[in-house]
Amino acid sequence: MLDASHSLYIGRFAPSPTGPLHLGSLYTALASFLDARSQQGQWRLRIDDLDTPRNIAGASDNILKTLERFGLEWDGPVDYQSQHLAEYQAALRCLSDQGYIYPCACSRKTLAAASHSGVYPGICRDRFVPDSCPHALRVKTDHQAIAFIDLLQGPQRQDLATQHGDFVLQRKEGIIAYTFAVVVDDARQCISHVVRGADLLDETPKHVYLQQLLNLPTPRYLHIPLLVDQQGQKLSKQTRAAPVEATNPALVVFQLLQWLKQHPPAPLQQAPLSELLAWAVSHWQADRLPKTAAIALP
Ligand code: GLU
Repeated sequence: MLDASHSLYIGRFAPSPTGPLHLGSLYTALASFLDARSQQGQWRLRIDDLDTPRNIAGASDNILKTLERFGLEWDGPVDYQSQHLAEYQAALRCLSDQGYIYPCACSRKTLAAASHSGVYPGICRDRFVPDSCPHALRVKTDHQAIAFIDLLQGPQRQDLATQHGDFVLQRKEGIIAYTFAVVVDDARQCISHVVRGADLLDETPKHVYLQQLLNLPTPRYLHIPLLVDQQGQKLSKQTRAAPVEATNPALVVFQLLQWLKQHPPAPLQQAPLSELLAWAVSHWQADRLPKTAAIALP
């Protein structure tokens, strides 16, 4: 595993344009922003817009405006995944040339019948699937343990073959899977630090594995808890979490800093946003972050 700790800090936030930002995504954005800025790092913005059926018109612009409104200014131009299709194809070819991927023509029905756990049992691994037959592309996994150290959650270890089986890199309809795109994107953008929600902790060994196959560096990972509602459900666009309330951004940021366990002093509750953010950058302590997988909102 390559260690990015001695290079320049380049962080990123990578929302999907599937709706307006809700409090959960703003929580992640703020943590990622503060972690980068407190280490004099860059903070890039990438719009993960490959999953076209889920994209909502106007959502990207709405997300950019919300981030600006909350003072989370990114460095450089906004990066759109949809403008990098050739890079994903090049990376797929690289894996294909090494014999790591194979076409899979399994239908949803076949998949559901073959495995209740969701672990793909390798049905198409040694099958001939003609090019003319609609197929996904899967990467072969093995029982070699994939390990990495999460900066907050500690050492992680996974046997991909047991936990996930051979996983999809390109879906049947030709859409590049998030799991694959994120690896190509983070390398392309020279991302050294990834701060994101703990719902992706379990997916990260797949990313590390693909980085190893593609000979790419592994960024530092820090997975922060998810904000959940009173039913324990992740706040997400899918559960129609309310868009973030932007009438008083400083108040929202103050509250988020409390949930990030940064203990902002009470008088700052009345401070302007720029002052609050400047305080948060200079007092950021990642080791104070809650280590739980989730934080239930009151
Ligand atoms: N677009 C992904 C999401 O919104 C990004 C995840 C990541 O930060 O890697 O969940």
